[in-house]
Amino acid sequence: MFGRFGHLVVAACLLSGAALAGESPLPTVKIFTTGGTIAGAGSSPTDMTNYKAGGISGDQLVASVPQLKQLANTPVEQIANVGSYDLTIANWIDLARKITATLADPAVAGVVITHGTNTIEETAYFLNLTVKSEKPVVLVGAMRPSTAISADGPLNLINAVRVAIAPDAKNKGVMVVLNDEISSARDVTKEHTMRVEAFRPTDFGYLGYIDEDKVAFYRAPVQRHTVNSEFDVSKLDKLPVVDILYAYIQPSLGLVDALVKIGSQGIVFAGTGAGDISTPERGALKNVMAMKPDVRPVMVRSSRVGNGRVVATKDYEPFGMIAADTLNPQKARILLMLALTKTRDPKELQRIFSQY
Ligand code: ASP
Repeated sequence: MFGRFGHLVVAACLLSGAALAGESPLPTVKIFTTGGTIAGAGSSPTDMTNYKAGGISGDQLVASVPQLKQLANTPVEQIANVGSYDLTIANWIDLARKITATLADPAVAGVVITHGTNTIEETAYFLNLTVKSEKPVVLVGAMRPSTAISADGPLNLINAVRVAIAPDAKNKGVMVVLNDEISSARDVTKEHTMRVEAFRPTDFGYLGYIDEDKVAFYRAPVQRHTVNSEFDVSKLDKLPVVDILYAYIQPSLGLVDALVKIGSQGIVFAGTGAGDISTPERGALKNVMAMKPDVRPVMVRSSRVGNGRVVATKDYEPFGMIAADTLNPQKARILLMLALTKTRDPKELQRIFSQY
């Protein structure tokens, strides 16, 4: 029984601890909501798959966890209320600007963003590159809807707010919190479709844990982020179009040409192994290579493997391809979109991919 209700026990102890904080004024943590399973509403407590992502509003979501009141003042702003696969780049830019402006207020300790888990790693990495603040920015989701028996959202939300007010959480870049674990936006990826332990920070490990006694950090990201990022979306309302092509045995040829036709300015290959694409597919790049360098899409090699580096190799030099290092394809896409707002120079682009 104790194991099964362990989360409730942790929450109860945490609250008694938080009551001690009642002597000093509570910190303020602004909560931006976007929808997802954490705000999902199903038809019954056992509905774990047919629920509506973003079925309750941001205000309802936060009000459903009254224990937050003992940790912080938590004003809520709903940015969207959708499944995270339906968020847009306009939503990202809006969020980045609002978070930067919110954190510039000395009265605000940190920001929490509730988000669907499907693309939480993408929004987190975008914000990691564009928010200008050293204060904690924490994305949080859930694997079970708010109406589910043993919903994981309420404790995840309490944990996210605890991280947002933790003194050690400053200057760690944007973080993702689920399942009592803190991950770096750059490294985290969703690697299970169903389980509550769906997120792993690839080879590099969690930044820390959220336990009853404390928020415990063990490491900090060293790649450039937030205040050390050169990217600025404060005056942009869109980003260059970048798409991803998945590599596999005997791909249909002509997909790159099709992407060029619909206006892709960058193409990220989710290559096999350490970033390889087939010889016929390389051959099919002849039309792209015939384009003038200033309009040709920039090509980046990432990997479909999920761990490890992709490095520059001789085979891909003639195509001017950039190596994505350890960024997975969906994160390499985000970095390339932002990089293309600054440069098309291959050396500069490779420098960017080695620093972020
Ligand atoms: N199943 C997703 C989630 O866990 C839905 C979404 O990404 O919005 O939140």
